[in-house]
Amino acid sequence: MNDILIIGTVALDSIETPFGKVKKALGGSATYASFAASFFSKSALISVIGNDFPKEYIELLKKRNIDLNGLKITGKTFHWDGFYEYDMNEAKTRKTELNSLEHFKVEVPEKYKKIKYVFLANIDPEQQLETLRQMNKPYFVVMDTMNFWINNKKKSLIDAIKKVDVLLLNDGEARQLFSTINLVNAANQALRLGPKAVIIKKGEHGALLFTKNKHFNAPGYPLENIKDPTGCGDSFGGAFIGYLAKTKDLSERNFRKAIVYGSVVASHNAEDFGLNRLKHLTMSDIEKRYKEFQDIREF
Ligand code: AMP
Repeated sequence: MNDILIIGTVALDSIETPFGKVKKALGGSATYASFAASFFSKSALISVIGNDFPKEYIELLKKRNIDLNGLKITGKTFHWDGFYEYDMNEAKTRKTELNSLEHFKVEVPEKYKKIKYVFLANIDPEQQLETLRQMNKPYFVVMDTMNFWINNKKKSLIDAIKKVDVLLLNDGEARQLFSTINLVNAANQALRLGPKAVIIKKGEHGALLFTKNKHFNAPGYPLENIKDPTGCGDSFGGAFIGYLAKTKDLSERNFRKAIVYGSVVASHNAEDFGLNRLKHLTMSDIEKRYKEFQDIREF
């Protein structure tokens, strides 16, 4: 039985950073999220790819025991072309070729409809909403997005936010979506829309958790070797919900632990291009860095 349903993009990414570049590497929000979640829980993935999608990438996902029965194949795979300058906290998009994503309509397979934990990873908010319409009362829903959808589908995005338990945003997106430079103000505006918690990711500077009465601030991990931050937000989200689905404890205290696990997996992800680091990551690497995080915070 799958613990988590993840809907998002499965992509071919062309990425350039000051430390190198890759062309048409495996990427996408659902890819990173389900990979990261797989260290803790079993996920089923809903997305679309094209006929050009390399078989070896499918094998990589299967190796992590990710259920791919909800992966449609039609047309050409979604392609994202982006780059980073020396401030690696901000991805700049050169090209977004939606391809088969443009006409993609979610159809949640019958056997997924009762899954209790849902991650609406970054994808068209209309498809995030449609997923929730088809699900049979999920218990816990986490959602992520990005500036592309804030610019193009803001109304649907706000409608989706009203229906989730936890909203993930990075700091730039939070400022843009709520038209404020102040992150506390942005988080409070988001909480007023309905989510019980808002997590603002600040790249290498850590993450902030806002709930109605509490605030938690997780540090960033002091990484000396950063090659490519693509997928850090998605792997943060995947590990976060993966840990919560495993422990089945949705207290604020456990959210804090889940955020640190999210930060651990995301920080590893940035150490190499695409999924190259996560492919070789082990649970003992994760637990080792989790302890370092505890140590960073002790005084
Ligand atoms: P992040 O975790 O924010 O670095 O997300 C990076 C991933 O987002 C890349 O692997 C891209 O394929 C994917 N991506 C880029 N643009 C979009 C978009 N408009 N919608 C959904 N996913 C996207």
